[in-house]
Amino acid sequence: MAVSLRATRTMSFSSLLSRTFSSASLNSQADLKSAPFFAQRKSLPLRPDPRDRNVQWVFLGCPGVGKGTYASRLSNLLGVPHIATGDLVREELNSSGPLASLLKEIVNQGQLVSDEIIINLLSKRLEAGEAKGESGFILDGFPRTVRQAEILEGVTDIDVVVNLKIQEEALLAKCLGRRICSECGGNYNVASIDIKGENGKPGMYMAPLLPPPHCASKLIQRSDDTEEVVKERLRVYDEMSRPVEEFYHKRGKLLEFNLPGGIPESWPKLLEALNLEDHEIKQSAAA
Ligand SMILES: [Zn+2]
Repeated sequence: MAVSLRATRTMSFSSLLSRTFSSASLNSQADLKSAPFFAQRKSLPLRPDPRDRNVQWVFLGCPGVGKGTYASRLSNLLGVPHIATGDLVREELNSSGPLASLLKEIVNQGQLVSDEIIINLLSKRLEAGEAKGESGFILDGFPRTVRQAEILEGVTDIDVVVNLKIQEEALLAKCLGRRICSECGGNYNVASIDIKGENGKPGMYMAPLLPPPHCASKLIQRSDDTEEVVKERLRVYDEMSRPVEEFYHKRGKLLEFNLPGGIPESWPKLLEALNLEDHEIKQSAAA
């Protein structure tokens, strides 16, 4: 199955398969920071020029885990785009692109956007990036299924898949604590999470993100942030994502990362797990 998919995709996306990222676009910061990570991955073919290196990563994680936040921070750090397939669909919908009218029909009928359309948009985005000299990408929201992962294999080589994980108890508290200011749209979280690690289970600490006084009286909760909805969302996600995790695990590409807390706790640990350094963190710690 995987072989035949690869063969058909190879023909359709031959330009993608042959692409190489230009080293010229890598900024010096990214060079410094990504070098140790790739140096340790002995299974990957190392290239003679350390700048001639790709970051072709996928981010997995359940809804509410903060996947977009971490993917976006890493993309800034590494100087590669954070590509969320949901954004690609929205951008195409709002454009006069060739798929816009088809997409409008699909969305209006409440149907799911097919794998073929998403991979089509993604391929175009990667090709455009290559033309601009982008040195890689971090994918967010794709692949969601094994079929999508198989198709993606024929389009581009993914080298690392980061799977962000959080205990259900913590995620539930995080989702139930979400608040939005009805006036300015600011996002806050009133949950104060402090789960002690025990019996081999990791602990989790997350401070609340409280609103400024002028927003405090205008907070609202999203109607789908209820325990029932969040639990169901998680169940559906688990069922769908487990085979995808297994797919990448078998290929030796899966990096499991348990979030130890909010951004201040998790960001440095995530960098450590990826063997990256954020010089700004070091500088502020030293100051
Ligand atoms: Zn406000």
